[in-house]
Amino acid sequence: MDNTTGHEKGALTNRQHARQQEAIAALEQQALDDEAVDTLWDAVVGTASRTLEASHGKILLTSPHDHALTLKAGVGWQDGWIGRHICGVGENTQNRHVLMSHEPVIVADFLMDTRFAPSELLRIHGIRSGVSVPILGIDGLTGVLSVFSRDAGSFNSAAARFLQTLVKVLVATIHRRQADEKLSYPSRFDALTGLPNRRLFIDRLGQAMALAKHRQAKVGVVFADLDHFRIVNDAMGRGNGDKLLVQVAQRLQQCVRSGDTVARVGGDEFAFILSGMAQAKDATLVAEKVIAALSVPCELEGEEIYISASLGISVYPSDCTDVDGLLRNADAAMFQAKENGPAIYRFYLPQMNERAVARLKLETQLRGALARDEFVLYYQPRASLANGSITGFEALLRWQHPALGLMPPLQFISILEDTGLIVSVGEWIVLAACKQIMRWKSQGLMPHPISVNLSARQFQQRNLGFVIERTLRATGIDPALLEFELTESMLMKEAEAAIHALQVLKTFGVRVSIDDFGKGYSSLAYLKRFPLDVLKIDRAFIRDVAFDPDDATITVAMIKLAHSLGLKVVAEGVETRDQLDFLIENGCDEMQGYYFSRPLPLEGASRALMENHRLALH
Ligand code: C2E
Ligand code: MG
Ligand code: MG
Repeated sequence: MDNTTGHEKGALTNRQHARQQEAIAALEQQALDDEAVDTLWDAVVGTASRTLEASHGKILLTSPHDHALTLKAGVGWQDGWIGRHICGVGENTQNRHVLMSHEPVIVADFLMDTRFAPSELLRIHGIRSGVSVPILGIDGLTGVLSVFSRDAGSFNSAAARFLQTLVKVLVATIHRRQADEKLSYPSRFDALTGLPNRRLFIDRLGQAMALAKHRQAKVGVVFADLDHFRIVNDAMGRGNGDKLLVQVAQRLQQCVRSGDTVARVGGDEFAFILSGMAQAKDATLVAEKVIAALSVPCELEGEEIYISASLGISVYPSDCTDVDGLLRNADAAMFQAKENGPAIYRFYLPQMNERAVARLKLETQLRGALARDEFVLYYQPRASLANGSITGFEALLRWQHPALGLMPPLQFISILEDTGLIVSVGEWIVLAACKQIMRWKSQGLMPHPISVNLSARQFQQRNLGFVIERTLRATGIDPALLEFELTESMLMKEAEAAIHALQVLKTFGVRVSIDDFGKGYSSLAYLKRFPLDVLKIDRAFIRDVAFDPDDATITVAMIKLAHSLGLKVVAEGVETRDQLDFLIENGCDEMQGYYFSRPLPLEGASRALMENHRLALH
């Protein structure tokens, strides 16, 4: 029997109302502060149960294709029930009614209620009354928020309205967070590949390091930089370059465990966080997997594209204990791998940083070198083994470094290639060589071909033909006096494309030689199809040709091969009389090497021509 007075009742309602307002405000506050959505569900059920003095509370959720309601959060139930399916949506419960009608349901006494099938669950818990409201408006999810009491008649419509307000706060918070996440997505993820970007990578690395410190574990950072990606980008266009990056990203993701991170940290740079490693060596497994995963060609527009990566590894805490340092070290190791690579990995070593810094400095200085006119060509003469006369020159690039002096190409060509500077420097080299041919001719000197080395990047440049044609036209030289040297490995890498590119070159009337022959693996079938004029035997075979029978045999075979293909043979790196005699004896056509002449500055080369220097054959 209710014996409170009307006044007391009003006071109670007011007090309840105030409590509810306070609870809603507190929940809103928590919704603002809290990071994880999951704690919000608990907070809603907790607030609902506490404020309405209920013994039990729960949120059940279902998705459109789900035929059961899952307990998302609860108060008063057994531990371990969260996440369990509670009942089918088809069963005649108050939940179903709420979901269908979108209206609250108040049950004053489950024992007396005839609308719904009796619930075993509620019976076991001694529950007599309850109130349920729908949760609507969350993407792809609907649900029910309920509270229960062991006393009958505990909830009225005010309680239902209170629950509806809590649901409003919940739904609004989830919407806001979804919007936030969408907003912050581009700032944390790479739009092209969907991988975490550099920023998120750095955040996660910090977390992984903190955790590893706590657990005394190691964290590996692996930097993977694609080798010669620029070439693909230039040759096949940006759109295809992007497609390739997406394929690479997918493969890289398959190389790590689910807890590890793969991020895209730069244009063609990816990075891994290997968290909780027991030993530094574990990183090699991932590095090897990456190399293997990329060794299978990618497909772009029906073509097979070979791509590889150079990898650098640094390990927390042995290499460094701060994020920046660890990244710097992985980067330095990656640079080292690039230099020795492609397609290899290197662990960080302390001396690498100095080299990476030095290289970076060179790169900066190289960027302005062309404009500052710091490049020069040296000319190394080739001589006929039939009569000893000069047959041509190879133009060899030098960099007149303002502080370090004259620098040989092996110290900077790879930087020119990696940065793409080789394209403009390469154009300058071709033009400079053509101008020199023109000048020698105007000085009345016997015209000899000048050969120019083409880098892989230049060779794959779509407008190479255009550049050559323009240069030939501008200088008006006889195209037969211009020769291009392409290394065997460049030609064999994508042989079909190389055949086509060579055919284009040949239409201008220039000559083509295959450089450093013997170092790579040539397919004879292709060799026959390349429109070549000259074969240059690599220095490595000539070095010991006079006393190593293997090198001698190979050299003789290469001379015969060249002749059978109708090519002239030039031996590179001839330094001694013995080598020379061997080559003469075995029918080699020409030689190039210190024995006759080192690469000469322009004046030296001009003098050699004017004074008609000859190689003494006997
Ligand atoms: P390469 O095309 O095989 O050039 C021959 C290299 O062998 C030159 O080195 C030359 O100085 C060296 N050499 C010649 N005779 C001898 C000898 O008797 N003994 C020894 N030990 N070496 C000899 P260099 O000038 O340092 O050039 C190295 C490489 O750099 C070249 O190898 C070429 O691949 C590249 N390179 C040079 N100039 C250019 C250029 O203008 N463009 C491009 N893309 N690459 C270039
Ligand atoms: Mg060469
Ligand atoms: Mg060579």
